[in-house]
Amino acid sequence: MGTAATLQTSDRGNALPGGTGKPTRNEADVTTAVATSTPLTAADRCDRRGAQAYLRVELLSGGELLFCAHHAREHGEALKEVAATMVDETNKLAETPPVAPDVER
Ligand SMILES: [Zn+2]
Repeated sequence: MGTAATLQTSDRGNALPGGTGKPTRNEADVTTAVATSTPLTAADRCDRRGAQAYLRVELLSGGELLFCAHHAREHGEALKEVAATMVDETNKLAETPPVAPDVER
């Protein structure tokens, strides 16, 4: 895994006027640069206890961490200091109430 996405514009579809017909492509298909803020899915799990992750942290050092809402709250402040980017989707939790009604602790 790496975030070394090269930003490159492709010329494809830009045929030369009055050419011989088909434009020559000396470059393979340029892959679209991967967005840095990939949405979290149910497959993303908290690094601490395997719960569904709602916070993705890309570290300044290049690593990536995933946290559930609980750990996102617990470590949020500290993470901000080492994070290059943070994708916080803990607000998704508010949309889906817990199955069993429970008293806030
Ligand atoms: Zn967690």
